Amino acid sequence: MTRDRQLAYLQAMDIQVWQVRHAPVIEEAVADVVEPVPAEAEAPPAPATQEPAGNTATIPPATPVGPVVADMGWSQLQETVRDCRLCELHESRMHTVFGTGNRNADWLVIGEAPGKDEDLQGEPFVGRAGQLLNAMLQATGLQREQVYIANILKCRPPNNRDPGTEEVQCCSDYLARQIALVNPTVILAVGRIAAQNLLGTDTPIGKLRGKVHHFGETGIPVIATYHPAYLLRSPLEKRKAWQDLQLAVATGKACQP
Ligand code: URA
Repeated sequence: MTRDRQLAYLQAMDIQVWQVRHAPVIEEAVADVVEPVPAEAEAPPAPATQEPAGNTATIPPATPVGPVVADMGWSQLQETVRDCRLCELHESRMHTVFGTGNRNADWLVIGEAPGKDEDLQGEPFVGRAGQLLNAMLQATGLQREQVYIANILKCRPPNNRDPGTEEVQCCSDYLARQIALVNPTVILAVGRIAAQNLLGTDTPIGKLRGKVHHFGETGIPVIATYHPAYLLRSPLEKRKAWQDLQLAVATGKACQP
């Protein structure tokens, strides 16, 4: 990717870049990233995620309450999710939000749960947070279509409340099967809920980010970063998110066969 293009994407993320006069390479320009002054005059939409607060909900291991999905292929899995009634979220959903993107992707992006826009359209990350996620991916040279995007939950919790422990449990086999099918070189966990659930911990997101974790027995590397909905409210944290993305790039490259 050209330097101009990458700078354009960083700008799309609202990351203000201060360049030294003769900055020779993008890495140096990025190293000089300075926190932007929040420019948002309007209040961001109700976020799906409240980041730094501690969390009590740890991720329980999957309970075999639902159908056995471990041998399912994509079509059968998608149909099973579409018809799922394992938890009460099926009563209020418009659509299940299965996941989208390249099923052979190197990157698997995992968010929290569908919000209003996603529930209406049946696709993850299509609202404002999704636009920022797209810009974040583009900043690393990835188009949205090149990665696979899924969520911890396949149905929207009413009023975007945090997913309940039981709801996460009901969806966990679906996500585990998606992870196995994609078999990515790196998982990017966006937001506290995604990171804590994938890693089975209640460690705050600020402490999970910046390190390479691994998903269960698969050993697939997991990089945790802030949720784009949180970044919309707290743009000063975008610099850290950019560092996380760079860690994900490096980790993914290191793990390529
Ligand atoms: N937030 C998420 O975590 N996932 C979505 O799909 C949309 C918003």
